[in-house]
Amino acid sequence: MTNNPHFPLMLTPLKLRHNELKNRVIMGAMHTRLEAAPNGAQRLAEFYAERAKGGVGLIITGGYAPNMAGHLEMNGPILNERAQIDDHQIITNAVHEAGGKILLQILHTGRYGGTLKTVAPSAIRAPISPLTPKALEPAQVEQTISDFSTCAQLAHDAGYDGVEIMGSEGYLINQFTAARTNQRDDKWGGSADNRHRFPLEIVRAIRANIPDEFIIMYRISSLELVEDGATGKEILSLAKDIEQAGADILSTGIGWHEARIPTIAYMVPRGTWSFAAKRIKDAVNIPVVASNRLNTPETVEEVLREGHGDLAYLARPLLADPDFVNKAAAGERDQINICIACNQACLDYIFKAKTATCLVNPRAGQESALQITPAEHPKRIAVIGGGSAGMAAASIAGARGHTVILFEASEQLGGQLQLARKVPGKDEFDELLRYFKNQLDTHNVEIRTGVAANVQMIMDENFDEIIIATGVTPRQIELDGIDHAKTVTYTQILSGEKNCGDNVAIIGAGGIGFDVADFLSVLKSDDRSPKAFLSDWGVDQGLEIKGGLSPQGPSLEQSPRQITLLQRTSGKPGRSLGFTTGWALMKALKRRGVNILTGVTYEHIVDEGLQIELEGEKTIIPADTIVICAGQESQTSLHEELSMAGVSTHIIGGAAQAGELDALRAISQGYNLALKL
Ligand code: NAP
Ligand code: SF4
Repeated sequence: MTNNPHFPLMLTPLKLRHNELKNRVIMGAMHTRLEAAPNGAQRLAEFYAERAKGGVGLIITGGYAPNMAGHLEMNGPILNERAQIDDHQIITNAVHEAGGKILLQILHTGRYGGTLKTVAPSAIRAPISPLTPKALEPAQVEQTISDFSTCAQLAHDAGYDGVEIMGSEGYLINQFTAARTNQRDDKWGGSADNRHRFPLEIVRAIRANIPDEFIIMYRISSLELVEDGATGKEILSLAKDIEQAGADILSTGIGWHEARIPTIAYMVPRGTWSFAAKRIKDAVNIPVVASNRLNTPETVEEVLREGHGDLAYLARPLLADPDFVNKAAAGERDQINICIACNQACLDYIFKAKTATCLVNPRAGQESALQITPAEHPKRIAVIGGGSAGMAAASIAGARGHTVILFEASEQLGGQLQLARKVPGKDEFDELLRYFKNQLDTHNVEIRTGVAANVQMIMDENFDEIIIATGVTPRQIELDGIDHAKTVTYTQILSGEKNCGDNVAIIGAGGIGFDVADFLSVLKSDDRSPKAFLSDWGVDQGLEIKGGLSPQGPSLEQSPRQITLLQRTSGKPGRSLGFTTGWALMKALKRRGVNILTGVTYEHIVDEGLQIELEGEKTIIPADTIVICAGQESQTSLHEELSMAGVSTHIIGGAAQAGELDALRAISQGYNLALKL
């Protein structure tokens, strides 16, 4: 063990075959789409090199297909020809020069593929894909094994320290190992031994053709969370056989992409899944890597201390802060920018075919374009508004050597983040608030809370630059009876200024309407432990049940109040929610009995509740509280007054644009503006 006083287990080196990893933190595979961007290899090299410099023990690339049929999408990442090696060498050289080690992940999507060439063990369409795959012929199965081996050979020649074979998350290898997707009656299907043959042959083929020091990591599906998925016993048997076949290390994946249990979203408590890694660790003699929702050094240290894994696999937390390991080692835990598990700028961006970045770290993926350099002419800058846009602008301006004064009208910094942190699971925003406050302090930003800046005050202080980040106010709506005592705004509810009765109608089913429904439908005694999460979502921790889904299914939680969430537009509710998190929130609300009505016309607020028209009929939603979640309006009065006084300003965040207000855009605008001043 190291004698580092902060996180001794996390920082202990590990011998791996003929290599030594300098600590137990692995930057896990994550698709970024950077390779598809102009100058992609160079940008990937900068992206990974920055993480290597930040001290991470090992980096795994995003997945590369071993052949055309394994593509995620047309022109997706692939390594199947020698001509592609040059680009990879740019990456491996950069990482090695930065003192890091890097493995290439080989990922064959199977039926999750987005091209017409999609194949699988059997011709069964995935519930999350519009494409039915072609069943692989026996000769094609052999060829695919050979393609994995060729890909590993090319990775070796490109300078990678090894490969990770993606056998998890429901991709092709997983489709072979599970009866759910493998209905073959040849030697590749039927019994568990037959279903396991495909990954075992892949590992053997790679080991046979590669020099001894080359690392083979196998990502094993440690809990499938789908019907007819593998039992725990089958998984342990596969793990032992994979070790025998020649793998050096096992990383553990949780859940297939088509699983309907959230595995990495904000509502999943930290460290929830490490029990599944422990089962494997207890069964094999090679190191095992725990994964999913390990976003802080404390969580990693605890997982290692509890013996749930030998290493930890962190993907998004290294997007959020490339210096995660070095800061932890230096005793600077408070300076780490922690991933809040929102998925907004990483996974949700990937699904929108955009390049991944990070809500809390806009530099992610733009390492050379967004350099924080000292200002040529240090200035005196006023930032008005201490929400996410203002805090981002002030801290980056301060980091560049400007003299910055941050005005905040309320008694505390945070703006909308102070409300968001009240939503179940979004208490991860506390980490962002803590990070910003430390950054402001480190960069000597003068903070004036409880000061509502006005024109005279700003003009008196002779600022060189004025940044308006005054945020938003809840939109007031016109409706008969809106002044009724039972009407409240979402800010009053989330801030605790007002309480709710037993029957609640929520006007507006945007992101905040859903968050308010979530906030109001959990019990005050809500247990946020991993154990409670697993029980609520119906996860069985035994070894016998297929897919790890308990026969009782998810528990029916009882909301402490009757809640109706309403929207005027017809069509599916929840469309504005995050692609990778919204479905889980919808499921949780359904379990708690929250009623969602679409296509309604609001008529009056009356003593009994909210009168609406729905499908041509008038009805009253009984309610003793009506919460208005109808979006926001920009707070621009100071901006306008300064303009009228002839003072020029920069306007960012919700003050610039209230529609589709979100922390991602606010932080990124603050950050980018401060780099230009
Ligand atoms: P929003 O997403 O714009 O939703 C407000 C909803 O209020 C609209 O969808 C609209 O729905 C309704 N509305 C607007 N004007 C109205 C009026 N005059 N009368 C009655 N209803 C009216 O705003 P938000 O919910 O406040 O969210 C703000 C931002 O934060 C959004 O960008 C959102 O995506 C983001 N956010 C996201 C999440 C998440 O993804 N989980 C959580 C929180 C916030 P109808 O017209 O259909 O009724
Ligand atoms: Fe984490 Fe959100 Fe950043 Fe993704 S966008 S890495 S989930 S903080």
